[in-house]
Amino acid sequence: AIRAQDVHKWYGQLHVLKGIDLTVATGEVVCLIGPSGSGKSTFLRTINHLESIQQGRIYVNDELVGYRETPDGKLQPLSENAVADARRHIGMVFQDFNLFWHMTLLENLIEGPVRVLGTPKEEAVERAHGLLERVGLADKADAYPRKLSGGQQQRGAIARALAMRPSVLLFDEPTSALDPETTAEVLTVMEELAHQGMTMIVASHEMGFVRRAADRIVMMEHGVIIEDLPADRIGTADGRIGDFVRHLE
Ligand code: ATP
Ligand code: MG
Repeated sequence: AIRAQDVHKWYGQLHVLKGIDLTVATGEVVCLIGPSGSGKSTFLRTINHLESIQQGRIYVNDELVGYRETPDGKLQPLSENAVADARRHIGMVFQDFNLFWHMTLLENLIEGPVRVLGTPKEEAVERAHGLLERVGLADKADAYPRKLSGGQQQRGAIARALAMRPSVLLFDEPTSALDPETTAEVLTVMEELAHQGMTMIVASHEMGFVRRAADRIVMMEHGVIIEDLPADRIGTADGRIGDFVRHLE
């Protein structure tokens, strides 16, 4: 589960997250939408502490992310090691730049488990083959990322995230660099994950995915959440979110 409480983020003078409150239950899939610059990427990046926050709290599975709380209620940054430790439960898939280019797909998938989790190599390899099968890339284990299509790369990136056995997965516009056909392949993998009970926050404007796989749709604007609706109400939503969604379709 993910719990963000009154999260504030400033870049210098620029106040980009202005008190975000969001709880995502275990197994829930939340789709995050909103205009460019509203803070979606920044918010996702605070959840695995790729960005620091200046106020508020973020918990993943009831563990405070990035900080420890002192007895007088102040936040103290954790060491890099402790942050890395917390981060391995939190998978993230970006628009691009997800795979290591100098490694085969299989090597990409076993690197984290072997180096970070201490999984025996043989076991990591076996598991990696299973994950590649699951994302439809069983025959690409020995391929280098540059030999893969964008959609294959992105499915590989999802498999690599899964190899770390994350308890939550964050997606930041995972299909926005892809053409419609490869987008569909990636969305299918994400939908399967959603239906298998993965806890996910997905920043995406793919309304088909929202309809088929999301539980809630959350809209951000200017660094605040302005709507939080059950996904099945999206068709009849009014106000800002209704206008925004109709403009997307
Ligand atoms: P998009 O839909 O275009 O991806 P977004 O909702 O993901 O937009 P963010 O990337 O989170 O928006 O950006 C929120 C605000 O923070 C914007 O005003 C952006 O210019 C600013 N911002 C983002 N990253 C930085 C940074 N590293 N330094 C300074 N300002 C930043
Ligand atoms: Mg973004």
